[in-house]
Amino acid sequence: MERRPHNDPLFIGPDQAQSACKTGAPPEQPGTGAAEGRRICLRIAVSVPVRETFSYTIPEGLSARARVGCRAIVPFNNRKVTGYVLEEMVQNSSEGLKEISDILDPEPLFQDKLGHFFEWMADYYIHPIGKVIESALPGGLNMNPVKAARLTERGLSLLDGLPSNSDEKKLLSWIKAHPEKRPPWPLQKIYGLQKRGLLILEDRMKKGRAGPLMRKFLKTKDHGELEHLLAEGADSLKAKNEIEFLKTILDSKGILLGDLTRKFSNGLYLVKKWTGRGVLEAFIAAVYRDPAGKIMFPSAVPVRLYDQQRRTLGHIRECLDSKSFFPCLLHGVTGSGKTEVYSRAVEYAIGLGRQAILMVPEISLVVYMEGFFRSRLGNRIAVYHSGLTRGERYDQWVRILKGDVDLVIGARSAIFAPLPRLGLIIVDEEHDSSYKQEEYLRYQARDMAVVRAKIEGALLLLGSGTPSIQSYQNGIVGRYRLLSMPDRIENRPLPDVEVVDLKAMEDGQSESEMISPVLREAMDQNLAAGNQTMLFLNRRGFHRLFLCRSCGKSIRCPNCDVALTYHLKEDSLKCHYCGFYSATQRKCPSCGFDGLKAYGFGTERLEQELKEMLPGARVARMDTDITRKKGQAIKILKGFSRKEIDILVGTQMITKGYDFPGVTLVGVIAADLSLAFPDFRAGERTFQVLSQVSGRAGRGSQKGRVIVQTFNPDHYAISTVMSHDYRSFFEKEKKLREQLGYPPFSHLASLRLQGNGKGETAEVAHSLGVMTREVLGRWPNRGKEVQVLGPAEAALSRLKGKYRWQMLVKSKNVSLLHHLLLEIERISRKLLKSSGVGLISDVDPYQMT
Ligand code: ADP
Ligand code: ZN
Repeated sequence: MERRPHNDPLFIGPDQAQSACKTGAPPEQPGTGAAEGRRICLRIAVSVPVRETFSYTIPEGLSARARVGCRAIVPFNNRKVTGYVLEEMVQNSSEGLKEISDILDPEPLFQDKLGHFFEWMADYYIHPIGKVIESALPGGLNMNPVKAARLTERGLSLLDGLPSNSDEKKLLSWIKAHPEKRPPWPLQKIYGLQKRGLLILEDRMKKGRAGPLMRKFLKTKDHGELEHLLAEGADSLKAKNEIEFLKTILDSKGILLGDLTRKFSNGLYLVKKWTGRGVLEAFIAAVYRDPAGKIMFPSAVPVRLYDQQRRTLGHIRECLDSKSFFPCLLHGVTGSGKTEVYSRAVEYAIGLGRQAILMVPEISLVVYMEGFFRSRLGNRIAVYHSGLTRGERYDQWVRILKGDVDLVIGARSAIFAPLPRLGLIIVDEEHDSSYKQEEYLRYQARDMAVVRAKIEGALLLLGSGTPSIQSYQNGIVGRYRLLSMPDRIENRPLPDVEVVDLKAMEDGQSESEMISPVLREAMDQNLAAGNQTMLFLNRRGFHRLFLCRSCGKSIRCPNCDVALTYHLKEDSLKCHYCGFYSATQRKCPSCGFDGLKAYGFGTERLEQELKEMLPGARVARMDTDITRKKGQAIKILKGFSRKEIDILVGTQMITKGYDFPGVTLVGVIAADLSLAFPDFRAGERTFQVLSQVSGRAGRGSQKGRVIVQTFNPDHYAISTVMSHDYRSFFEKEKKLREQLGYPPFSHLASLRLQGNGKGETAEVAHSLGVMTREVLGRWPNRGKEVQVLGPAEAALSRLKGKYRWQMLVKSKNVSLLHHLLLEIERISRKLLKSSGVGLISDVDPYQMT
């Protein structure tokens, strides 16, 4: 079985990395007399944090139901746990193997190709395979065994003799009354009673909450009789609404009981009456919850495609016809008509009998795309993202699995959608960092789309106006087919990008530190003309920049060339890659000017200032603080598209893909906030975000205007945005990455340490650094191929009450890196356990804060 796509264009393949999924007998006492000889066994991933998969035998009664993709209950370390069947195999000897206890699903929850994909992820991200599957499957599936107690004969007889108000009597009577439930006492206490032979503790399964939503329906049982009754006339049907009630049911194939009782106040009475007479009957059936299904911005189907669209589609069709893995990168500037291309590509794939996944970076964009695609493709669409409830996700999963869906639209978790005939995966705005999951199973959904497409033999279409350096580099070297759409639809001009040099703003000269006179004037004009403005501040909350008032440069780390982070409390500057530390200075290291200064910026304060500055304007703010409330983002976007809002202030959330024709002015408050981000991708992000922002202006008939405020007008990430020149930006950025050995010219992993104690966490971090360097020292040749940065205190040195440190490991050799990570995990186990400090490995990290 080929599990890893070895020639994968993106991953050289962790081939030398030690194979994570070994298969053996579960760690336990010898098996209970399993028969010897060749037998069919199941390879199972258990939902326990272990790397290996385990073999189990199948008892007679379960063999028909035990299929790949089903959940099983299996014994593991004297417990019962959930497992996932990955493979059926013939084992020469089943000695020492345990039997599975139960199969939970009547039908598989995933196909074996998806199983391969899960294993690939587990290997690559060094995450327990069972936990990968657990987080990929819709929540609420898993049944957790609970300890239930039942009384023995001895317990029963003792119970009668106990004084009525004693604790023991209370406890034992409760257990007698609730044999299936977990007793509400500490288990310690129960164990004591078990020892005395009064009760037996057993594992019972508690059903997970989510499952199909079942509802009661009503339909006719005796159709003829009912027609006859109604034809006969009203005499025998005297009750209020009775005729209408019966007609409603007659006209339907089945109607929800809830709908009936809502419509007819005496519905329940009538239901009883007619089911009693055998004319109607009730039945229970599964229904699907519709998570959104609204079309927000309906769009007409264009009569004809533009040349660049036609050309691009030609290539896509060719690839789809080949029915094999094909990775493509579509570099299409904003407004070049990519959505239309996606839509036609999906239709074409469906025409070939295959199915598609469309991933977008934001949940609110899912809603937008859903509306668009429903208007084109009808209802064989599912949405899938973490904003759905557990029940909704479960429903969508089942629909997709059954083949009732041709297109799944979602955020990053849509990469797991169990489409049985997957032929096309589209990743829109592929450069977007929200494809990286930052908690629990840390994966890059865009990268995993490459792997899944390879496993499924599907076409992968990555689309972006500002491709990631990594993907574009893959295009340049021929790993991806590069497709390009360089022109905006109807040759609409790209907006003029003007740069305002914030250095020129003298203290006290402007009304506001955040809004320059140029931007202020432009907003006034725009308001007067009845047009809309978007103001963009690329980080939420409040941030300080420490930079030179003369040359605008911030201070960078001499080792890592990332911006140093300013810490107000200590008045110091730190590198969060390597730990470099410097007191703040007044003199600029770049130009020698004696005037370094801290500037402060924040979205909330900006909104406040605007309301005071322009009292007549309707101002709204959109950032993650605001949109955490369900439905809030959609509300704001709706308001903005209906022109109920004049100025929308926001973080990068507002930059992604929306089409608001009324926006003619876009302002960027401080481009430097993203440049000064302590991250080797700071330049890339700045270019992407600024281009994306500029793309929001002038989508309608009027030309747009973009004003970028910055302390660094000459920085290449800003000057290339002004000239709309992706290629120049790419070349410059690529050279820097190459020089410093950052991805895509190396592979990176971050090891994050989190602990409750400040000193303790620092100590463990230092020990881990020493241990890691010792390991590398023991690998005389290969050890030199890995570089270790840090450990250093993280930029967010304290988060959710935890102290945080990080260490980066870097190598051109991805297998070696994986090998090292596994080794670090092994040698640090004891240290971590005794100190209570947690270690998180993040392979291909994005967030270095
Ligand atoms: P992108 O996703 O590349 O930024 P869009 O797909 O949003 O660009 O397209 C920009 C605009 O052009 C949209 O308003 C879309 O409806 C319109 N459009 C796309 N293709 C055509 C076409 N063939 N004819 C007319 N209008 C089109
Ligand atoms: Zn450094």
